[in-house]
Amino acid sequence: MYCPKCGAEYRQGFTKCADCGVDLVWEKPQIEDRVEYVEYTEVLRTFNPGDIAILRSVLDGGGVTYYIKGEGFGNIRPLAEPASLMVRKDQVERALELIKPLKLRYRGISGGSG
Ligand SMILES: [Zn+2]
Repeated sequence: MYCPKCGAEYRQGFTKCADCGVDLVWEKPQIEDRVEYVEYTEVLRTFNPGDIAILRSVLDGGGVTYYIKGEGFGNIRPLAEPASLMVRKDQVERALELIKPLKLRYRGISGGSG
């Protein structure tokens, strides 16, 4: 017996899920991982690991959801490939506000002249 809601398996004799209170079913249900799909937008690129360290502390402090793409370094040295700061789409504006005062020499995605 399975709970159709949480997927918990019960022995025979049980009729309801102890956690969810819903009737159990015979078939094992397909419980989908409800992973929220979030879109990320590239906010800036940098070759400077130092910039990334600053960005991290600022964005962490601002509660912005982000990740660094292409961050493949361990030492403080120029990156062979630029790392991209990817920010959750609905938090881009907030991220930009936090980043702005830093005056990093980054190449912004918007308004940058190659
Ligand atoms: Zn359940």
